[in-house]
Amino acid sequence: MNDILNLAKEARLRAKKLAAELINKQFIGGEFIPASSGATLPVIDPARFEEVGEIPSSDATDVAHAVSAAKQATTSWRRLTPRQRGHLLRLCGEKLRANAEALAELIALETGKALRTESRPEALNVADVFDFYSGLGGELKGQTIPVATDMLTFTIREPLGVVGAIIPWNVPVMLMAHKIAPALLAGNTVIVKPSEEASLSVLKAAQLLSEFLPPGTLNIVCGSGPIAGTALVENEDVKKISFTGSTSTGRIIASKAGARLITTTMELGGKSPMIIAEDADIERAVEGVISGMRFTRQGQSCSAASRIFVQEKIFSEVRELVISKLKKLSIGDPFSEQTDIGSIISQAQYQKVCSYIREAKEDPTLDVVEISNIDRDPELSKGLFTSPTLVFGAKTSSRLAQEEIFGPLCLMSPYSDFEGAIQEANKTEYGLAAYLWSKDLSKALYFAERIEAGFVQINQTIVFRPGTPYGGLKNSGFGKEACLETVIEDYTRGKTVMIGR
Ligand code: NDP
Repeated sequence: MNDILNLAKEARLRAKKLAAELINKQFIGGEFIPASSGATLPVIDPARFEEVGEIPSSDATDVAHAVSAAKQATTSWRRLTPRQRGHLLRLCGEKLRANAEALAELIALETGKALRTESRPEALNVADVFDFYSGLGGELKGQTIPVATDMLTFTIREPLGVVGAIIPWNVPVMLMAHKIAPALLAGNTVIVKPSEEASLSVLKAAQLLSEFLPPGTLNIVCGSGPIAGTALVENEDVKKISFTGSTSTGRIIASKAGARLITTTMELGGKSPMIIAEDADIERAVEGVISGMRFTRQGQSCSAASRIFVQEKIFSEVRELVISKLKKLSIGDPFSEQTDIGSIISQAQYQKVCSYIREAKEDPTLDVVEISNIDRDPELSKGLFTSPTLVFGAKTSSRLAQEEIFGPLCLMSPYSDFEGAIQEANKTEYGLAAYLWSKDLSKALYFAERIEAGFVQINQTIVFRPGTPYGGLKNSGFGKEACLETVIEDYTRGKTVMIGR
């Protein structure tokens, strides 16, 4: 036990040391510099609710500086062949892999995500994204079109120029990778605006990548969304915005980008359903509820299966098994190797989640089970911890069933007929992910066809992997990430060339 405590203590100290090294720095034109105004924002360790660093609070001047650096770097970066750029991306992946533990510790410090279950897997998998894109350089090709025998007609793809990437806090390094790797491979230069809640790990990753990427190719501008983010979207030299975040912010960004006639990729919120049919493997389905709802990340996942529909004949059994599995998960110090669930990201998010849990508890028509296994260590007494909460009996039309909570509150309801369950599952503005547990292939195919979601999983809850197109339908956004189409459709533009005799 003491060994585990000591290891956790040492890991936290290492992360705090890295946070101190990155104090008040952002990455522009190959240099780590503060904001031009000197303004800063605090970095909070949410598990202890204490300040552990600061980041620059940038404004339009800093964004303009980053855009100018990126614009300057474009000429030489796009002159490299796609395969040369791919080679550099492969080296980037190797560097990240070799430094995964340091990245994981910084992620745990600033997000409160448990090191073992969340932060380390994120840091370890990020190199795969670079590996995947590094091999796709040869695919940046056009077509020849047989219009006439005396005419050569062909298409070419070319980079867009400076790309803006705006990302949230829940998987900061992974989401950064999913934006920068395809954009860079295609020959663009990039400015990332990370969330002010999780900028340190992104800055650390940029520091590691700077060994291979020429100055200005990749820039990180820190600061708040409404100021730094808006400046990036409005800068006329930014030719594309790739955004991951909430649907409400996505709407603001998409309308501004639309007014400028630049394209966007929108990876937005979700309220994803899971259906457990009576013929499901119950043990695996119950595991799927725990992993699909991302309880180990406090439910802070865009694809969290937050609405579970269980066939009525197996409902009681599933309910009891889920409760008993949740009781085994420990909530506490993100740095402890014994912890399954860390903290919520921020005070604002904590209050939001607590208000939904309170609302559920105060509703006499609902049956609420809150599973409280929070570590009472006095050092964590100010930490932003909440407990997995199951809510039974919520109506599909209720706020709890319609709004994205982004916390560990999961709705479970029984259903009688499969078709009815699919219809209920589709009654949401969102369409990101959907899950089914059933051994019946025809049910699985019917579900895949009828469910309104961009990412459908049957008998598994694996998160998205490089090579599998990922993206939402309806108000969960548009555009696909993690695939070849991302490089071609999101980060290049096409030209048609016709050569006559
Ligand atoms: P937000 O939409 O609040 O913020 C996302 C990013 O946008 C942050 O960097 C934020 O900066 C910035 N931002 C905020 N306002 C503006 C603005 N007016 N103009 C430009 N940029 C702005 O989302 P969260 O960070 O709270 O992340 C959670 C959300 O992300 C959830 O809805 C979740 O579903 C979604 N998400 C979607 C994924 C997908 O693949 N579909 C994956 C992961 C998360 P700052 O925070 O510094 O203010």
